[in-house]
Amino acid sequence: MPYRTGPEAGAPTRLVLCVACGRAVELWPKADDFRCPGCDRHQPALRPDAAAPLVTEAVTFQGSGYDQLVPFAQTLGITESCSQITVRSDGVLFDVTIDIDSGRARGVTMDAQTSGFPTITFTRESRDERKAKASGQTREVQTGDVAFDETIYIDTDVADEDVHVVLASPAVRAAMVELLGSFGSIRMLPSRVSLGGSPSPPECFDAASLGRWLRALRVVAGAPRPIAVKTVPRGIAERLAWAASIPIFPVGLPAFILSVAFVPPVLPFLGLAGAGIGVVIGLLAIAALRFVFRGRSSSHTDLMIARGLVFLGMPFVGAATAHWANALFDRSTERADTLVVAAVEWDEEDSDTEAVLRGGPADLGEIELRYEDDERAIRPGDTAVVWTKAGAFGFRWFTRDSVVTLRGTNRTVSE
Ligand SMILES: [Zn+2]
Repeated sequence: MPYRTGPEAGAPTRLVLCVACGRAVELWPKADDFRCPGCDRHQPALRPDAAAPLVTEAVTFQGSGYDQLVPFAQTLGITESCSQITVRSDGVLFDVTIDIDSGRARGVTMDAQTSGFPTITFTRESRDERKAKASGQTREVQTGDVAFDETIYIDTDVADEDVHVVLASPAVRAAMVELLGSFGSIRMLPSRVSLGGSPSPPECFDAASLGRWLRALRVVAGAPRPIAVKTVPRGIAERLAWAASIPIFPVGLPAFILSVAFVPPVLPFLGLAGAGIGVVIGLLAIAALRFVFRGRSSSHTDLMIARGLVFLGMPFVGAATAHWANALFDRSTERADTLVVAAVEWDEEDSDTEAVLRGGPADLGEIELRYEDDERAIRPGDTAVVWTKAGAFGFRWFTRDSVVTLRGTNRTVSE
């Protein structure tokens, strides 16, 4: 039942956990304090400090051959070695788990089993984030608590007012600063709060440290959360830019590979010119993206990812577009030319013969083609037929596979 300090209009807007028993209590906007309906403890709505004594007991554990948690387990009365311990601290459940990678205990993860938080990631503020904020690229909600704002970066799509609800309590902010002094990240999720980026062993398994982190995490897990979470959606330009950036590389590369297989130009200049134009358009897009990805807590990382996709993909998009357009808009008639094999090189691995062809019309020049020649039959002096069209952009391209007729026989070998 919501607790009210006086007659107020409207409905409860936030939910907070009792510091003693962990019970979730709904609070009206103006409630400064409340009495827990579970344990009857009277307490302020915003926890002022983390000094309250902590009742911690083991609930379950998972036995294993890893002994790193033994000193911590012993403080809870567990004598066996275990890879995970679930404890209850002042009414909230926590999982303390050894992070095992390829049989090596490389750290510890801690999760608070508590629900109702909006999705927010807290990390130590990096130089890149500070720079992105200073340039106006990125906007991060500020709490007004200097020690917190200068050291911690808040990454979220949640509205500022909801972040303010979560961070309103001084004890919560202080606990986060303490946790991020050792861990890389605090992730608030609708179903739990997780500590990631563990300190290295053996520090991360120290029983006293684990006890300290547990106490700080208990404060964070009890933080007020908004009952109805509001997220700030991405703008239409930003969503369009994402939708355009993401497929550039995954579509551009296969489109290029297919164009080389099905509509290959005789000379490589067409693809190079297309790639060059692609690079120029890509650079313009990369410059323009700065004005699209702006004003959110993740703008600088979004910008970096979108730029990377454009940078990688545009040369392929340019080359593929040039190849396909040159072939698909070509209205010329197909031409068959007979050339002479001038030199051969056999590739033993693929059983292919790479042949140099000469003696065709000037617009073909000298051509190198690769034939499936299991018997190594192609010899200099054999004749090869190639079929080409003039190309919509004036770049002649192969319309079908070339065929070599072996000298003195009717046998043929094709590409
Ligand atoms: Zn209580």
